[in-house]
Amino acid sequence: MDITVVQGDITAQDVDAVVNAANRGMRGGGGVDGAIHRAGGPAVLADCVSRYPSGLATGDAGWTTAGDLAARWVIHVVGPNYRAGERDRALLLSCYSRALEVADSLGAATVAFPLVSAGIYGWPKQDAIAAPLEVFRSATTSVTEARLVAFDAATYEQIRAAL
Ligand code: ADP
Repeated sequence: MDITVVQGDITAQDVDAVVNAANRGMRGGGGVDGAIHRAGGPAVLADCVSRYPSGLATGDAGWTTAGDLAARWVIHVVGPNYRAGERDRALLLSCYSRALEVADSLGAATVAFPLVSAGIYGWPKQDAIAAPLEVFRSATTSVTEARLVAFDAATYEQIRAAL
């Protein structure tokens, strides 16, 4: 699997699936979640409601249509809320490994990931970068490209250095 990094907006990625940093309720939110629901349109929320009536557990992943996005699917993961005291790193690793499992089940070969938990949820940036790299490097998956999407130039450089 190729691990790549780009600077940009996750909603603009031309990949099979984009990963959403969702919350347990799966009914939309801020940050990446808000951007994906805005750009994907109402079909994303409608699919969240019908497929996940009780949402998702922290560390787990699920999927919906990507609506109007170029991608075919959104893979929703729920990162641990560090700011609220959820600091079990295994849950952050699980978001990435479960996302790859869901991608495999869908047949998604190219997948774009945000830095889960690194925004509103407050996970320390350096470790929020190390976690996906650990999972990607040891994963057994049919995904051919795991693309980390950095929203700003400083984060892009930090990911490049970690790679
Ligand atoms: P969480 O609630 O899991 O912390 P956020 O969406 O608040 O998730 O932030 C996760 C990371 O994604 C942060 O590094 C944030 O800067 C970045 N981010 C926010 N919006 C976008 C976007 N549209 N595309 C890519 N990355 C984004």
